[in-house]
This record gives sequence, structure tokens and C-alpha cells, in this order.
Amino acid sequence: MAKNDWGECKDCKWWQIEPDAVVANLTMGLCIDEELQPFLLRVSGNSGCNRFMPGEVARAEGSSVAPPTAKPTR
Ligand code: SF4
Repeated sequence: MAKNDWGECKDCKWWQIEPDAVVANLTMGLCIDEELQPFLLRVSGNSGCNRFMPGEVARAEGSSVAPPTAKPTR
């Protein structure tokens, strides 16, 4: 896979954070990429992967707790 497919969660449409959270490197949230949803992957803003998709982050209560309790909103 091309290296330029890689991006950071804070710029990814599959990153879901708390309704009032700031989009920042150390903010924690849930990855709601469809393939990764079964893993309840909790990631920080400066985490990233090559399933990155640029876009606005999603928001839902319970996205940052360990383990996340929020349902994917997309
Ligand atoms: S882990 Fe990958 S797909 Fe999930 S939010 Fe972060 S960059 Fe996006």
C-alpha cells in the first residue's frame, strides 16, 4: 500500500471523539473505520494508519473512555 495513504487520526473522518472534545494530538477517541470497528480501537489524535480518510471527525459521547462505549455514528 502506498505510503501516502497514511494519515493521522485527527484529520480522519473515521476518528470519533467526545461531543465537546478538542481536535488535538493527545485527545483520545474511537476509530470507527468499518474494518477496525470490531477491535474497539482507541487512538489519540496523533495516532494514524493507512486506512486514513481525510475529513471532519465524528462525535459521540463515550468515544474516549476505556473501553469505548459509544456506537459508531458513520
Ligand atoms: S486508526 Fe486509521 S482509520 Fe482509524 S481514525 Fe486513525 S487514521 Fe483513521
